Amino acid sequence: MKAGIEKEASLEALVQAEKLKLLYQQSFVAVFGNFFSALLLVIVLWPVQQHHVLLAWLAVIVFITVLRMILFTRYRNIQPDGLEILAWKRPYIITLLLASVAWGFGAVYIMPVGSMLHQAIIYYFLMGMSGGAVAAYSSQRGITLMTIGCVLLPATVWLLMSGSATFVIMAIAAMLFIIAVLRAGKVMSDTMHDSFLLAHELKKAKEKAENIAELDELTGLGNRRAFYRAGSTFIEHSKRTNDSLSMIVMDMDHFKIINDSHGHAAGDDALTHIGRLLRTNVRNSDVCARVGGEEFGILLPSTTLDGAVNLAEKLRRTIEDAPLIFDQDEIPMTASFGVSSGNASLDDLFRDADAALYEAKAAGRNLVMYQQASH
Ligand code: GH3
Ligand code: MG
Ligand code: MG
Repeated sequence: MKAGIEKEASLEALVQAEKLKLLYQQSFVAVFGNFFSALLLVIVLWPVQQHHVLLAWLAVIVFITVLRMILFTRYRNIQPDGLEILAWKRPYIITLLLASVAWGFGAVYIMPVGSMLHQAIIYYFLMGMSGGAVAAYSSQRGITLMTIGCVLLPATVWLLMSGSATFVIMAIAAMLFIIAVLRAGKVMSDTMHDSFLLAHELKKAKEKAENIAELDELTGLGNRRAFYRAGSTFIEHSKRTNDSLSMIVMDMDHFKIINDSHGHAAGDDALTHIGRLLRTNVRNSDVCARVGGEEFGILLPSTTLDGAVNLAEKLRRTIEDAPLIFDQDEIPMTASFGVSSGNASLDDLFRDADAALYEAKAAGRNLVMYQQASH
């Protein structure tokens, strides 16, 4: 249960990271738009407002723009991945808060006293910025609300207190518009959240399904499919590095007798037992799989024929020395081994190992035989 909750939490964190990533991607362009809007507003207000007021405000906007550009450039250079992205949330919010406050309070600061038209124009710009915020930050609802609040609230209060009926109506209309936009934004943000969540869940489910598809339930080892997939990767690697690759094929001796004299359940138990022995005696970097009914394959990368024969011999003795205990009966078991090695294809290695295994069976079983691939 606890593991389930932790898994859920990590999935939620991954979704948060994904959303933040999207935010950083979108913000590069948004920060330019922010700066050019400020420039445009200064040009429009130039005839009706004191120039030092406008320039002081523009300087603040430029400073924050530079700050945000530095942040976004660093993000691009570092390219954080996965949950690392979450550490980038705080600087993002701080710089965005600075920009929003600079717009919100700045708008009141640069409000020209004489011209209602220009006052309305400033408010129009603020509305535009708020609309932009919904579009850019819709994946993060908290950030959207924070930005819109900071940008619009000071000027809206100013309008409501201006005593002008027109401005009061304008402010109310603006509020209604924002409420409608926020509602639409919520739908968008929830949908985006769900789709990110779904994408991660699907990815996990796919990985799980792939693991199950390559697992042999009885022995806990890989199955034939896992063996071939890992095999082709090993072959590629050994071709590139000219490293030797070895293969062991192992077949249980007279397994039919175990089934016939103790029952099928004993046979199954014996396979589970062998699986356990192989898992504890074969390195994790090697691939060990149940490739047939009571036949196993082991792939040993960077291993010479000698090394592979030694391992096969060790496995042979381990199996011989560890009989199966079934219903208080001790059932002795042995296996025969065929070993092959060299820079050959997977099929060639298999064929050589099989031929060696056949020799081991013919020579009396409970033996290791080998062939050096001659291809
Ligand atoms: P040999 O030494 O020549 O290999 O003799 P063998 O009896 O092991 O060889 P054979 O291939 O004739 O028989 C293999 C037996 O393994 C037959 C089959 O019933 C048994 N077997 C294969 N898969 C399973 C399984 O999943 N569970 C059980 N209980 N038996 C299995
Ligand atoms: Mg057999
Ligand atoms: Mg067999």
